[in-house]
Amino acid sequence: MPDPEAAVSQPRYVRVHPADNVAIVVNDGGLPAGARFECGLSLAEAVPQAHKVALQTIAEGAAIVRYGVTIGFAARELPRGSWVREDRVLLPEPPALDRIPLATVVPAPPEPLRGFTFQGYRNADGSAGTRNLLGITTTVQCVAGTVDVAAERIRRELLPRFPNVDGVVALNHTYGCGVAINAPGAEIPIRTVRHLALNPNFGGEVMAVSLGCEKLQPERLGLPVLRPEEPFVIRLQGEEHRCFGDMVAAILQMAERRLERLNARARVPCPASDLVVGMQCGGSDAFSGVTANPTVGYAADLLVRAGATVLFSEVTEVRDAVHLLGARAVSEEVGRALMREMAWYDDYLARGGADRSANHTPGNKRGGLSNIVEKALGSVAKSGTTALRAVAAPGERVREKGLVFLATPASDFICGTLQLAAGMNAHVFTTGEGTPYGLAMAPVVKVSSRTALARRWPDLIDFDAGRIATGQATIEDCGWELFRMILEAASGRKTWSEQWTLYNALALFNPAPVT
Ligand code: CA
Repeated sequence: MPDPEAAVSQPRYVRVHPADNVAIVVNDGGLPAGARFECGLSLAEAVPQAHKVALQTIAEGAAIVRYGVTIGFAARELPRGSWVREDRVLLPEPPALDRIPLATVVPAPPEPLRGFTFQGYRNADGSAGTRNLLGITTTVQCVAGTVDVAAERIRRELLPRFPNVDGVVALNHTYGCGVAINAPGAEIPIRTVRHLALNPNFGGEVMAVSLGCEKLQPERLGLPVLRPEEPFVIRLQGEEHRCFGDMVAAILQMAERRLERLNARARVPCPASDLVVGMQCGGSDAFSGVTANPTVGYAADLLVRAGATVLFSEVTEVRDAVHLLGARAVSEEVGRALMREMAWYDDYLARGGADRSANHTPGNKRGGLSNIVEKALGSVAKSGTTALRAVAAPGERVREKGLVFLATPASDFICGTLQLAAGMNAHVFTTGEGTPYGLAMAPVVKVSSRTALARRWPDLIDFDAGRIATGQATIEDCGWELFRMILEAASGRKTWSEQWTLYNALALFNPAPVT
């Protein structure tokens, strides 16, 4: 076993692909000018950790290659051993959507992985929950405060009597009124609200709170009526409510019947194929694409082999790598659906006077990611290596098994919300810069791309993939370990964000106008 400290003190870089003419510096704190790597390369200038070094002299205008793909062009000559800084890299054009080969390199179906289970809650619709939660749907922001007050009282006064229920979630959002509800695009937030209510972790126990005069009337959500004899909507403007106390009491009363039924449920062994695992990254750095995301990709392959659904998303972080995915589509039809979602998003960004380069953050740059192309190539590693089986639009519920592209913005909260609407019952979130992210509706396993982050935030990061960069673990080791951790979390083991009840608010994607 090599000494981990010694392993990192030797100047070390990671080159992902044999064709790459750049590599990233592994050492904590970066390396000074003159630092010499084992291969004999020495640095012409200081290079921060996770940033790129030129492995050979790159002429002005020549391609800068990482992941075996051109991530940009040299804005000026980059001598061997120099720092390939963001301002020295010019952004290439994105791949033209109408010229991308579809379903040309379809991976063979992977060998099935049998016998893996988790302890979950069986639902009437065939899905399985990893948590046993009461969800309270809201039709409009106007009721959010009231629902918060009621949810707090449910936690304090009712939940102690229902120990098998994990919690209550107010599905608050800013949609519902003051919006162009018939505009194209409005169907996205509306179906998102509907499908959030039907997430497997709510056990089919739907209840909704409406104001009364809002544009998004409860009927428009099209929620299934599971028990015709039992009302499931409370209208705060209803004549029967003579004061605020009446409204809160009505919510508590409706909640109580549902809590009784939820409380009667118990965890039972469920096959791993009942998992719907959403993959996401946030606060990415240059290590994300060599440690955390490939680990997630390996675990994604194991999940697909076990028959589960793996969702990957974040359109702007896939756009520049879409030629890799189009070829992996299981059919031309699925490939065309992928291009349709990319084109929709190109158009959406263009209407707002932006393009995919608007995705890139100051933290990404500090973390060594020069541009969106480099970020996308690292991001796509989360999808693993299996065939792309299906494509879903924002807000849709996903029923297919295997690898599914769910089109969403890359915004952490919007992506997480849309993955929950798609039926996600476990979430894996990779981060390089670090973010205290969490969701109330499903367990979130947070994976750090660097060991330094995992050490600095030991009570937030669930999994350290940085061991891969320092040579202490392989992608395969970490992938299996993460797969097992997902099964444990699905079985009820609390992740760090759950231990702190650290939950980000839901954020709906509304591409339609606000009035
Ligand atoms: Ca994200």
